[in-house]
Amino acid sequence: MAHPAGLEPATIRLEGGCSIQLSYGRLSVQLEQTNFANPCQAVPDKCGESYRRPLPSSTPFYKIFKLLKGLEDLPDHAPLPMRRVVRECALLHVYFSMVNHASMTAHLIDGKAIAANLRKQIAQRVAERRQQGLRTPGLAVILVGTDPASQVYVSHKRKDCEEVGFISQAFDLPSDTTQQALTDLIDRLNDDPAVDGILLQLPLPAHLDASLLLERIRPDKDVDGFHPYNIGRLAQRIPLLRPCTPKGIITLLESTGQDLYGMNAVIVGASNIVGRPMAMELLLAGCTVTVCHRFTQDLAGHVGRADLLVVAAGKPGLVKGEWVKEGAIVIDVGINRQEDGKLVGDVVYETALPRAGWITPVPGGVGPMTRACLLENTLYAAEELHQ
Ligand code: NAD
Repeated sequence: MAHPAGLEPATIRLEGGCSIQLSYGRLSVQLEQTNFANPCQAVPDKCGESYRRPLPSSTPFYKIFKLLKGLEDLPDHAPLPMRRVVRECALLHVYFSMVNHASMTAHLIDGKAIAANLRKQIAQRVAERRQQGLRTPGLAVILVGTDPASQVYVSHKRKDCEEVGFISQAFDLPSDTTQQALTDLIDRLNDDPAVDGILLQLPLPAHLDASLLLERIRPDKDVDGFHPYNIGRLAQRIPLLRPCTPKGIITLLESTGQDLYGMNAVIVGASNIVGRPMAMELLLAGCTVTVCHRFTQDLAGHVGRADLLVVAAGKPGLVKGEWVKEGAIVIDVGINRQEDGKLVGDVVYETALPRAGWITPVPGGVGPMTRACLLENTLYAAEELHQ
């Protein structure tokens, strides 16, 4: 019995010239046999409506399983080929469970694997540059204070730099660092030709003005893409250094192979680092974009119209799976730590999974891509802006 490729309809040929056709694109199930036009002809009293009408993709597996099971008690007078079909049907249970599982859950967008691939390509390019006698790209990472989450993020970023062969400069500064001291450091790094990217880890202690400091970073070294110059260029459709999370999401979307032109894209969250630049990226990609935020009325209604949904609100379980449009692409940016230590997103993953066409897991979705895009931006700065 051949295993069908992907989710295309498949015909499984059985002994005696019988065949069973599974058409589970989303989602109809049919049993056919050469002697009978349809199963109703074969076993009239066993045949319910559900054989003939498409089953919604939310149909639980056990119901389809029951349909097949129902054919098992065939009347004695049933013709031999039919009995064979039914016997084979019983054998199909396990097989069917695999097929059905595949068709009724979303495709996972594996951010971890896509990011690993991107890091590999960056590492190769860095090695090539060295062979060509070109400079090794450098990233300066500034951390102020001892916020534990920031410390973890910064250590990951430094590890990533090592992995791809960048030179990473670490500046771990005490919580009472002054605005002037930070400004001076940024100025020094702006002038340092060995530094292609400057990353100021947020949030900063309350006495520091993050906006002023971010604007102090030279736009061609602003590898986070937060500088008003870079945001402005993205808004005007001439992006240079693009904010990492939305840029990473575009890479994830490309991995689905779906044509984004004309899609209704809904973004939940309107922050400077995710929601707003995401809206501009998706406009660039040809989507019709709606941005929802804390004052939005009827969030469920907006979500339900989304062919493409990006959620970045920082509210665990804000978006219910039942709201998600059938077949939608769901990108969950949220990272929320539960009391038991488990990380969850802003979308209720378990109930969104059977409805979505594609979905990112948390963890292992957007997070790794954000980190990889920081490296991508740093390499871009070295190659295109500082050569
Ligand atoms: P933020 O707090 O700056 O912004 C949150 C946005 O969500 C705001 O625009 C707010 O109006 C909106 N919002 C809040 N409650 C809402 C509601 N009930 N309905 C609709 N909109 C609502 O947050 P942020 O920095 O954009 O981060 C959002 C989440 O994404 C956080 O969980 C953060 O940890 C995560 N994040 C992940 C990555 C990553 O790489 N995976 C990167 C950045 C942020």
